[in-house]
Amino acid sequence: MAPGIDADVAVVGAGPAGTAAALFAARRGYRVIVVDKQAFPRDKPCGEGLMPGGRPVLRELELEDAIVSGGAPPLHGIQFGLAGQPPVAVPFPEHGGERAGLGIRRLAFDARLVDALGHESRIQFCPQTEARDIRPADGGSARVITAAGEIRARVVAVADGLRSPFRHRLGWTVGPRPPHRYGVVAHWTMDAPVDPWVRITFDRGLEVYEGPVAGNQRMVALLCYQDRMGEFAGRLEARYREIAQTLRPALRNADLVGPVSAVGPFWYRASTLAQGGVFLLGDAAGFTDPITGEGVAAGLRQGRAFAAALESPNPERLYRQAHRRLTTDPRRVAALFLRLSRTPALVERAMRSHQRSPQTLTTLLGIGFGYWGFNRISPREWIRMFSGH
Ligand SMILES: Cc1cc2nc3c(=O)[nH]c(=O)nc-3n(C[C@H](O)[C@H](O)[C@H](O)COP(=O)(O)OP(=O)(O)OC[C@H]3O[C@@H](n4cnc5c(N)ncnc54)[C@H](O)[C@@H]3O)c2cc1C
Repeated sequence: MAPGIDADVAVVGAGPAGTAAALFAARRGYRVIVVDKQAFPRDKPCGEGLMPGGRPVLRELELEDAIVSGGAPPLHGIQFGLAGQPPVAVPFPEHGGERAGLGIRRLAFDARLVDALGHESRIQFCPQTEARDIRPADGGSARVITAAGEIRARVVAVADGLRSPFRHRLGWTVGPRPPHRYGVVAHWTMDAPVDPWVRITFDRGLEVYEGPVAGNQRMVALLCYQDRMGEFAGRLEARYREIAQTLRPALRNADLVGPVSAVGPFWYRASTLAQGGVFLLGDAAGFTDPITGEGVAAGLRQGRAFAAALESPNPERLYRQAHRRLTTDPRRVAALFLRLSRTPALVERAMRSHQRSPQTLTTLLGIGFGYWGFNRISPREWIRMFSGH
């Protein structure tokens, strides 16, 4: 290590993006210090569906088996529907032998990731250590200021989540963009066999997103626009329960467990992704909306891309290019899904066209996972999807 440097890489935030960045960097021989302000295990409001494109990254990190044997159920695809109507089942696409996603209870999943940090001799993990300031490199090392002292590193990976106070402090935040969307999230236990489908039910300006996470537990998130958030004022749990059980009648036989959390608004971007030895990763680098359930897989992939870029003579440029490649089409798919969420007539047409072209929505999911480009769907299929004929 160069004199005056504590680590090659300092990572702020030990969520999926930060831990993946640290693990991949350490495996490339770099010395890494990771700080997170929270004690682990800690929870994180999330839809808890790891899309299939995230699994190869877990496998590379040799964590997939432990997560599956820890009880993460497989996810076969998404059942989309309008309230009160039968849903259509859209299986996940097969790609490189990969098909199923995983239901990941974040409390356990994130704990497993930080546990892996502890098994890596090149990583020093400091939980309950809040980063208070970051000073980009000015010819020398970049610095992270924490309550416990200063960390000098060649580069800093900032993976401090959706609102990313550091992205804001660096003046790189764009958003949140209106119309603002929010999520209300909680867990239910249900005495029923594991249902391997994520279920998304669209109602007026609101969706219910439900998926298995472990044993008899299901995660149920309501995603909605600001105009419907007023309904929750002063009665978050009661109104959440009411809406969830109305739109998903199976929940009438289930028990709500743990707290009900509200999060949002979503849609943030970064005007700069990497500069002065500071890199943004995961939600801190930009997040469109939970509707495609891609955030965790995206964070894992960005962590890997960050570590790979470190070996380049111009890591910032290489990371910016990789980030663009990883996120452009998935963002467009998220924008398309958001359009559907605002327009029930479009959902109805897409569901109708699914009867005749059952592959189209599966292909669209694959584009959202970054498997293929938009040209994978023919003009005829697009017309069918938007016209319903
Ligand atoms: C309602 C909802 C539903 C979602 N559904 C899904 C889904 O089904 N599937 C999916 O893949 N994604 C989903 N997402 C998105 C997913 O939760 C995020 O994309 C993912 O958690 C981002 O990971 P991250 O590592 O970037 O940040 P996070 O997981 O948010 O981790 C950030 C970490 O940074 C730490 N930190 C923050 N500030 C500091 C500081 N100053 N010093 C030290 N540490 C700090 C925090 O303690 C935290 O541990 C959903 C999100 C929401 C809100």
